[in-house]
Amino acid sequence: MINVKNLDKSFGDARVLKDISTTIEKGEVVTVIGPSGSGKSTFLRCLNKLEDPSGGSVVVDGKDIMDPNTNINDVREQIGMVFQHFHLFPHMSVLDNLAYAPTKVKGLSKADAEARAQDLLQKVGLSDKAEQYPSRLSGGQKQRVAIARALAMEPDTMLFDEPTSALDPEMVKEVLDVMKSLADTGMTMVIVTHEMGFAREVADRVLFLDEGRLVEDAPPATFFSQPESERAQDFLAKIL
Ligand code: ADP
Ligand code: MG
Repeated sequence: MINVKNLDKSFGDARVLKDISTTIEKGEVVTVIGPSGSGKSTFLRCLNKLEDPSGGSVVVDGKDIMDPNTNINDVREQIGMVFQHFHLFPHMSVLDNLAYAPTKVKGLSKADAEARAQDLLQKVGLSDKAEQYPSRLSGGQKQRVAIARALAMEPDTMLFDEPTSALDPEMVKEVLDVMKSLADTGMTMVIVTHEMGFAREVADRVLFLDEGRLVEDAPPATFFSQPESERAQDFLAKIL
Protein backbone atom coordinates (compact mmCIF):
# COMPACT_ATOMS: atom_id res chain seq x y z
CA MET A 1 0.00 0.00 0.00
CA ILE A 2 2.78 2.45 0.96
CA ASN A 3 6.26 1.74 -0.27
CA VAL A 4 9.04 3.92 1.14
CA LYS A 5 12.43 3.57 -0.46
CA ASN A 6 15.64 5.35 0.56
CA LEU A 7 13.62 8.30 1.83
CA ASP A 8 15.70 11.33 2.72
CA LYS A 9 14.57 14.70 4.00
CA SER A 10 16.64 17.76 4.76
CA PHE A 11 15.65 21.17 6.04
CA GLY A 12 18.50 23.36 4.82
CA ASP A 13 21.66 21.71 6.11
CA ALA A 14 19.81 19.56 8.62
CA ARG A 15 19.29 16.03 7.35
CA VAL A 16 16.34 14.86 9.44
CA LEU A 17 15.39 11.62 7.61
CA LYS A 18 18.20 9.37 6.47
CA ASP A 19 17.74 6.60 3.94
CA ILE A 20 14.50 5.15 5.29
CA SER A 21 13.05 2.11 3.57
CA THR A 22 9.98 0.19 4.66
CA THR A 23 6.70 -1.08 3.28
CA ILE A 24 3.32 -0.65 4.92
CA GLU A 25 0.93 -3.35 3.78
CA LYS A 26 -2.80 -2.98 3.33
CA GLY A 27 -4.53 -3.50 6.67
CA GLU A 28 -1.35 -3.18 8.68
CA VAL A 29 -1.16 -1.14 11.88
CA VAL A 30 2.29 0.36 12.22
CA THR A 31 3.42 2.47 15.17
CA VAL A 32 6.30 4.91 14.89
CA ILE A 33 8.27 5.39 18.07
CA GLY A 34 11.37 7.39 18.93
CA PRO A 35 12.83 10.29 20.89
CA SER A 36 11.63 13.84 20.36
CA GLY A 37 13.22 15.31 17.23
CA SER A 38 14.02 11.92 15.72
CA GLY A 39 11.94 12.67 12.62
CA LYS A 40 8.65 10.89 13.37
CA SER A 41 6.36 13.73 12.30
CA THR A 42 8.47 14.48 9.25
CA PHE A 43 8.32 10.83 8.23
CA LEU A 44 4.54 10.81 8.54
CA ARG A 45 4.20 14.08 6.64
CA CYS A 46 6.34 12.76 3.80
CA LEU A 47 3.84 9.92 3.26
CA ASN A 48 1.18 12.31 1.94
CA LYS A 49 3.62 14.96 0.73
CA LEU A 50 2.82 17.52 3.39
CA GLU A 51 6.62 17.64 3.28
CA ASP A 52 8.49 17.18 0.02
CA PRO A 53 10.97 14.33 0.31
CA SER A 54 14.52 15.42 -0.59
CA GLY A 55 15.42 12.01 -1.96
CA GLY A 56 14.20 8.47 -2.43
CA SER A 57 10.62 7.56 -3.22
CA VAL A 58 7.23 7.15 -1.62
CA VAL A 59 4.73 5.10 -3.61
CA VAL A 60 1.14 5.04 -2.35
CA ASP A 61 -1.09 2.40 -3.89
CA GLY A 62 1.08 2.38 -7.02
CA LYS A 63 1.29 6.16 -7.30
CA ASP A 64 4.72 7.76 -6.90
CA ILE A 65 4.01 10.95 -4.93
CA MET A 66 7.12 12.62 -6.41
CA ASP A 67 6.06 11.94 -9.99
CA PRO A 68 4.86 15.23 -11.52
CA ASN A 69 2.13 13.24 -13.30
CA THR A 70 0.66 12.08 -10.00
CA ASN A 71 -2.30 14.13 -8.82
CA ILE A 72 -1.33 14.57 -5.17
CA ASN A 73 -4.87 15.56 -4.24
CA ASP A 74 -6.07 12.11 -5.30
CA VAL A 75 -3.45 10.53 -3.08
CA ARG A 76 -4.33 12.79 -0.16
CA GLU A 77 -8.00 11.90 -0.49
CA GLN A 78 -7.04 8.31 0.19
CA ILE A 79 -5.09 9.22 3.31
CA GLY A 80 -6.76 10.62 6.43
CA MET A 81 -4.67 12.45 8.98
CA VAL A 82 -5.19 13.14 12.66
CA PHE A 83 -2.99 15.58 14.56
CA GLN A 84 -2.08 16.15 18.18
CA HIS A 85 -4.07 19.40 18.30
CA PHE A 86 -7.27 18.26 16.52
CA HIS A 87 -7.49 21.13 13.96
CA LEU A 88 -11.30 21.12 13.93
CA PHE A 89 -13.13 23.98 12.21
CA PRO A 90 -14.09 26.11 15.23
CA HIS A 91 -16.92 27.97 13.52
CA MET A 92 -18.75 24.79 12.43
CA SER A 93 -20.87 22.36 14.40
CA VAL A 94 -19.54 18.85 14.88
CA LEU A 95 -21.90 17.60 12.17
CA ASP A 96 -20.70 20.25 9.72
CA ASN A 97 -17.07 19.47 10.55
CA LEU A 98 -17.73 15.94 9.32
CA ALA A 99 -19.98 16.78 6.38
CA TYR A 100 -17.94 19.66 4.92
CA ALA A 101 -15.19 17.89 2.95
CA PRO A 102 -17.39 15.06 1.62
CA THR A 103 -19.72 17.65 0.05
CA LYS A 104 -16.98 20.00 -1.16
CA VAL A 105 -14.42 17.45 -2.33
CA LYS A 106 -16.39 14.28 -3.04
CA GLY A 107 -19.57 15.92 -4.29
CA LEU A 108 -21.86 14.18 -1.82
CA SER A 109 -25.29 15.71 -1.31
CA LYS A 110 -25.76 17.47 2.01
CA ALA A 111 -28.23 14.80 3.10
CA ASP A 112 -25.84 11.95 2.25
CA ALA A 113 -22.90 13.67 3.90
CA GLU A 114 -24.93 14.29 7.05
CA ALA A 115 -26.17 10.71 7.15
CA ARG A 116 -22.58 9.50 6.85
CA ALA A 117 -21.55 11.96 9.55
CA GLN A 118 -24.25 10.71 11.94
CA ASP A 119 -23.19 7.15 11.34
CA LEU A 120 -19.56 7.98 12.13
CA LEU A 121 -20.47 9.98 15.21
CA GLN A 122 -22.29 6.94 16.48
CA LYS A 123 -19.18 4.82 15.85
CA VAL A 124 -17.02 7.16 17.94
CA GLY A 125 -19.69 7.46 20.64
CA LEU A 126 -20.66 11.08 20.01
CA SER A 127 -24.14 10.95 18.48
CA ASP A 128 -25.40 13.41 21.06
CA LYS A 129 -22.78 16.04 20.10
CA ALA A 130 -23.72 16.57 16.44
CA GLU A 131 -25.04 20.10 16.98
CA GLN A 132 -22.33 21.21 19.42
CA TYR A 133 -19.43 23.46 18.51
CA PRO A 134 -15.91 22.14 19.11
CA SER A 135 -15.21 24.65 21.88
CA ARG A 136 -17.85 22.91 24.01
CA LEU A 137 -16.16 19.52 23.79
CA SER A 138 -13.48 17.92 25.95
CA GLY A 139 -10.11 17.12 24.39
CA GLY A 140 -10.98 13.45 24.09
CA GLN A 141 -14.26 14.29 22.40
CA LYS A 142 -12.53 16.71 20.02
CA GLN A 143 -10.04 14.05 19.01
CA ARG A 144 -12.81 11.52 18.40
CA VAL A 145 -14.54 14.10 16.19
CA ALA A 146 -11.25 14.65 14.33
CA ILE A 147 -10.95 10.90 13.72
CA ALA A 148 -14.57 10.70 12.52
CA ARG A 149 -14.01 13.70 10.28
CA ALA A 150 -11.03 12.03 8.62
CA LEU A 151 -13.04 8.82 8.20
CA ALA A 152 -15.87 10.73 6.53
CA MET A 153 -13.67 10.94 3.42
CA GLU A 154 -13.50 7.13 3.37
CA PRO A 155 -9.71 6.95 3.27
CA ASP A 156 -7.74 3.74 2.68
CA THR A 157 -5.11 4.75 5.17
CA MET A 158 -5.08 6.79 8.38
CA LEU A 159 -2.06 8.64 9.71
CA PHE A 160 -1.99 9.70 13.36
CA ASP A 161 0.62 12.07 14.80
CA GLU A 162 0.63 11.71 18.59
CA PRO A 163 -3.18 11.74 18.77
CA THR A 164 -3.28 11.44 22.56
CA SER A 165 -0.30 13.59 23.55
CA ALA A 166 -2.34 16.74 24.15
CA LEU A 167 -5.02 15.00 26.19
CA ASP A 168 -5.57 14.86 29.91
CA PRO A 169 -4.73 11.36 31.10
CA GLU A 170 -8.33 10.35 31.76
CA MET A 171 -9.22 10.99 28.11
CA VAL A 172 -6.47 8.96 26.51
CA LYS A 173 -8.31 5.66 26.72
CA GLU A 174 -11.47 6.79 24.94
CA VAL A 175 -9.38 7.88 21.95
CA LEU A 176 -7.21 4.76 21.95
CA ASP A 177 -10.38 2.63 22.12
CA VAL A 178 -11.71 4.32 18.98
CA MET A 179 -8.37 3.72 17.26
CA LYS A 180 -8.40 0.11 18.38
CA SER A 181 -11.84 -0.51 16.92
CA LEU A 182 -10.72 1.17 13.72
CA ALA A 183 -7.75 -1.20 13.59
CA ASP A 184 -10.17 -4.11 14.05
CA THR A 185 -12.00 -3.05 10.87
CA GLY A 186 -8.82 -3.65 8.88
CA MET A 187 -7.90 0.00 8.32
CA THR A 188 -4.29 0.61 7.33
CA MET A 189 -2.87 2.83 10.07
CA VAL A 190 0.45 4.55 10.73
CA ILE A 191 0.56 5.96 14.25
CA VAL A 192 3.23 8.09 15.89
CA THR A 193 2.70 7.49 19.58
CA HIS A 194 4.26 7.34 23.02
CA GLU A 195 1.56 4.93 24.18
CA MET A 196 3.68 1.82 24.51
CA GLY A 197 0.81 -0.32 25.81
CA PHE A 198 -1.20 0.51 22.71
CA ALA A 199 1.77 -0.19 20.44
CA ARG A 200 2.36 -3.53 22.11
CA GLU A 201 -1.27 -4.57 22.00
CA VAL A 202 -2.55 -3.20 18.69
CA ALA A 203 0.40 -2.73 16.34
CA ASP A 204 1.50 -5.30 13.82
CA ARG A 205 4.88 -3.59 13.59
CA VAL A 206 6.95 -0.99 15.36
CA LEU A 207 9.26 1.42 13.56
CA PHE A 208 11.84 2.99 15.85
CA LEU A 209 13.46 6.18 14.62
CA ASP A 210 16.59 7.69 16.07
CA GLU A 211 18.23 10.84 14.67
CA GLY A 212 16.43 10.37 11.38
CA ARG A 213 17.37 6.74 10.91
CA LEU A 214 15.04 3.77 10.99
CA VAL A 215 16.95 1.63 13.44
CA GLU A 216 14.30 -0.98 14.26
CA ASP A 217 11.48 -2.36 12.12
CA ALA A 218 9.99 -5.29 14.00
CA PRO A 219 6.82 -6.80 15.44
CA PRO A 220 6.06 -5.39 18.90
CA ALA A 221 6.81 -8.67 20.67
CA THR A 222 10.34 -8.53 19.27
CA PHE A 223 10.82 -4.80 19.62
CA PHE A 224 9.77 -4.60 23.27
CA SER A 225 11.44 -7.76 24.51
CA GLN A 226 14.65 -7.83 22.48
CA PRO A 227 15.40 -4.61 20.61
CA GLU A 228 18.54 -5.01 18.55
CA SER A 229 19.99 -1.52 18.80
CA GLU A 230 21.51 0.10 21.82
CA ARG A 231 19.50 3.25 21.02
CA ALA A 232 16.21 1.41 21.31
CA GLN A 233 17.37 -0.38 24.45
CA ASP A 234 18.25 2.97 26.05
CA PHE A 235 14.97 4.53 24.94
CA LEU A 236 12.89 1.68 26.34
CA ALA A 237 14.86 1.62 29.57
CA LYS A 238 14.00 5.29 30.11
CA ILE A 239 10.28 5.01 29.46
CA LEU A 240 9.22 1.53 30.59
P1 ADP B 1 9.64 14.28 15.99
O1 ADP B 1 8.26 14.28 15.42
O2 ADP B 1 10.24 12.91 16.07
O3 ADP B 1 9.74 14.99 17.30
P2 ADP B 1 10.22 16.03 13.76
O4 ADP B 1 9.95 15.24 12.54
O5 ADP B 1 9.17 17.02 14.16
O6 ADP B 1 10.58 15.07 14.96
O7 ADP B 1 11.55 16.84 13.57
C1 ADP B 1 12.77 16.23 13.18
C2 ADP B 1 13.83 17.31 13.06
O8 ADP B 1 13.50 18.15 11.96
C3 ADP B 1 13.94 18.21 14.28
O9 ADP B 1 15.29 18.53 14.48
C4 ADP B 1 13.15 19.43 13.87
O10 ADP B 1 13.64 20.57 14.51
C5 ADP B 1 13.41 19.49 12.38
N1 ADP B 1 12.29 20.11 11.63
C6 ADP B 1 11.04 19.65 11.56
N2 ADP B 1 10.28 20.43 10.76
C7 ADP B 1 11.09 21.41 10.33
C8 ADP B 1 10.91 22.54 9.46
N3 ADP B 1 9.73 22.79 8.87
N4 ADP B 1 11.97 23.34 9.24
C9 ADP B 1 13.17 23.09 9.80
N5 ADP B 1 13.41 22.04 10.62
C10 ADP B 1 12.38 21.22 10.88
MG1 MG C 1 6.46 14.98 16.19
